[in-house]
Amino acid sequence: MARVMAIANQKGGVGKTTTSVNLGASLASLGKRVLLVDIDPQGNTTSGVGINKGDVPNCIYDVIMNEVEPHETIVTTDQDNLWIIPATIQLAGAEIELGPTIAREARLRHALADVRSEYDYILIDCPPSLGLLTINALTASDSVVIPVQCEYYALEGLTQLLSTIRYVQKYFNKSLEIQGVVLTMLDARTNLGIQVIEDVKKYFREKVYQTIIPRNVRLSEAPSHGKSILQYDAKSRGAEVYLDLAKEVIGL
Ligand code: ADP
Ligand code: MG
Repeated sequence: MARVMAIANQKGGVGKTTTSVNLGASLASLGKRVLLVDIDPQGNTTSGVGINKGDVPNCIYDVIMNEVEPHETIVTTDQDNLWIIPATIQLAGAEIELGPTIAREARLRHALADVRSEYDYILIDCPPSLGLLTINALTASDSVVIPVQCEYYALEGLTQLLSTIRYVQKYFNKSLEIQGVVLTMLDARTNLGIQVIEDVKKYFREKVYQTIIPRNVRLSEAPSHGKSILQYDAKSRGAEVYLDLAKEVIGL
């Protein structure tokens, strides 16, 4: 049975998508069967694994809104063990269209129930908001991975995320856990990053992963080639750290 993990933080640009793609690819390269689920209307995870959004007949929108079987939306990537349910811009309407629907918070959970047994990990890349799409992801998940960027305002907004998690635990998904907090984009040349690491560790304690993702230019280049870091530059520091993170997630 897959462990379902939402990659969530309502702040944009903190490394959610980079972590979804590269943690997913790393887990896959360690032999795990991984399904990525893109629920950000921007579809960056989708293009990040080389899927042309114009070419997909069905996307996550159809799963959530039109009760299309998830099996009909799963696309293979060119990496072994890695599949994706893509997102297209069509999903932008879902946040509003979900409003009056039945079981609006649990649509994704019900859809993924049909495919859970076929994977080891399902990673859901969330949009930069705490709206119904993120609520759907949290309701569908066993746990949340929270990427936190090593910058001055790192902890700002996390109280809002944590209260959303508590709300989901209370009303929709009692067993939702925090899987871990991953510090991203550390700039080793500044002292600021070190301070942020200390603050985040004080707050989240043992939930903070040992692996810290540094700023690495190869990580920022890979998406424009539609490749994970493992395919784009397997020898880069970025590839090394995401593999380390995957091992931590597995518990190796
Ligand atoms: P989010 O999904 O939270 O909005 P992204 O993963 O898209 O964030 O990252 C925001 C930007 O930062 C992207 O352009 C991405 O390529 C870049 N980026 C993310 N992580 C790193 C990193 N470790 N080093 C360098 N650039 C990064
Ligand atoms: Mg993103």
